[in-house]
Amino acid sequence: MIEKTGVPTKEDIEEITPPKEIREKQAVAVIECYKEIPCNPCYTACKFGAIKEFEDINDRPEIIYEKCVACGQCVIKCPGLAIFIIDETYSETEATVQIPYEYLPLPKEGDYVTALDRAGRPVCRAKVVKVRKGKHPNMTSTVTMAVPKEHSMTVRSLNLEDYFADNTIICRCEGITLGEIRQLISEGYTTIDEIKRISRAGMGPCQGRTCRHLIMQEIRNATGQNMEDMLMPTFRQPTKPVKLGLFVGGEGDD
Ligand code: SF4
Ligand code: SF4
Repeated sequence: MIEKTGVPTKEDIEEITPPKEIREKQAVAVIECYKEIPCNPCYTACKFGAIKEFEDINDRPEIIYEKCVACGQCVIKCPGLAIFIIDETYSETEATVQIPYEYLPLPKEGDYVTALDRAGRPVCRAKVVKVRKGKHPNMTSTVTMAVPKEHSMTVRSLNLEDYFADNTIICRCEGITLGEIRQLISEGYTTIDEIKRISRAGMGPCQGRTCRHLIMQEIRNATGQNMEDMLMPTFRQPTKPVKLGLFVGGEGDD
């Protein structure tokens, strides 16, 4: 899979995921270097002995999580942009993900951006909490984003556009924005059914095909509820408006 698409499989990711006990107590580097290649700057960059000495230059790097102090030097030095720092101790509901970033312009601290997964798909809204600019123009910078905790091993890139801004329309049938949904959640409407009944989100022709999942994500982000545990509203078929003349006049429907 990775040879064809450049995107690691679920099994690849499981292999490099730090153990839960480590993630629960410290920020840590995640090394996503999946292939044997002649490269070792990550090892030479680490002054804390957290990356095991290579026996062969083609070895894949191995990390000793307990020794990692999340200094980020290996993130900057890796030419493959294959190292990230995750910190699941950041807050009750959020983790930070520090990524190498070689585009210009850099985002600014406090900006909201769209966090992307390894395939470049939007995952969630992220707040930029730190930008570490490379000392020279040709040095790698890093950007640290705060994201919902469950995305710490999913988010690996960003788009400067904030796809999840308040004015983003998420129920296209009824023209309801994310800001309106967020407002309702803050007023105490924390189930999909409540939000549907008070706002009509999900009651248009598509019957919630687009917005239902997005509303669930917002509820999860605001309340910490597990999406698997959320009660789903009744599923109905999408509807398509037809002219009354079709029935009375026998008009063709093509
Ligand atoms: S983040 Fe720092 S301590 Fe951890 S492996 Fe990288 S260089 Fe070593
Ligand atoms: S520096 Fe990066 S690409 Fe090179 S071996 Fe280390 S993790 Fe892999």
